[in-house]
Amino acid sequence: MKFSRIPTLVFVSSFLILFPVIHGWGEDGHLTVCRIAQSRLNDAANSAVKNLLPKYAENDLGSMCSWADRVKFRYHWSSPLHYIDTPDNLCSYQYNRDCKDETGEADRCVAGAVNNYTSQLQSYPSSSEYNLTEALLFLSHFIGDIHQPLHVGFTSDRGGNTIDVHWYTRKQVLHHVWDANIIETSEERFHDSNVDEFIDAIQQNITGIWAEQVPGWETCSRNETTCPDVYASESTKAACAWAYKGVSEGSTLEDDYFLSRLPVVNLRLAQGGVRLAATLNRIFG
Ligand SMILES: [Zn+2]
Repeated sequence: MKFSRIPTLVFVSSFLILFPVIHGWGEDGHLTVCRIAQSRLNDAANSAVKNLLPKYAENDLGSMCSWADRVKFRYHWSSPLHYIDTPDNLCSYQYNRDCKDETGEADRCVAGAVNNYTSQLQSYPSSSEYNLTEALLFLSHFIGDIHQPLHVGFTSDRGGNTIDVHWYTRKQVLHHVWDANIIETSEERFHDSNVDEFIDAIQQNITGIWAEQVPGWETCSRNETTCPDVYASESTKAACAWAYKGVSEGSTLEDDYFLSRLPVVNLRLAQGGVRLAATLNRIFG
């Protein structure tokens, strides 16, 4: 979703780069997906990820999971790869119909990107054709994005980016509520404003109340390495059932909305992390 806010100064590697903040899941959402994933890697995937991460990441995949948002300006071609626009109010997704960019070029959407970077990584350990470090960082980010319901939202409102709401007393767009506000409010209210505690709570659900569902999340049909069409279909259904539901231009969203949608956000972050790990384990294992 392309929109910009006040430019922010951020250190990336040793360079000081000026860029406007853009949204996928926010930092903490992507960090959550990648932390969960890295904790579930098999030995082969663990060592491949370690080899491919830049040294300054110190083997922390989470620290690099918003990289794809930061390079949208340098890699302008990558902007449409963060989302899918589906037909308004249909609440369904079909690869052949929906996976294209605004010019109509096929495969240029987040599902196409997940397939593309998965197959690039299958050439590990050596590829003369591809930058496998970038492939890992793109894949880790895009498996997160495809689980954010409004990244598979409606075309005319650009996944909720043109729907103005109030998040409690603050002006916001609906897309950003799902990228960041629900997560931030949860951290503030339930986890001492601490992202590590927020992630721990999701990890406990993965090994607790969701344990029986996890093998189903991990599995793709027909021996596929990854299955982004499944992830995208779930997202667009959740967008209709939860994100857009009851919201119109100018709505004020507060406790009713927050408390009923937070379980959906937690579930999507958990599924994103589990599936990123399962995908990397199949690629490298
Ligand atoms: Zn993104």
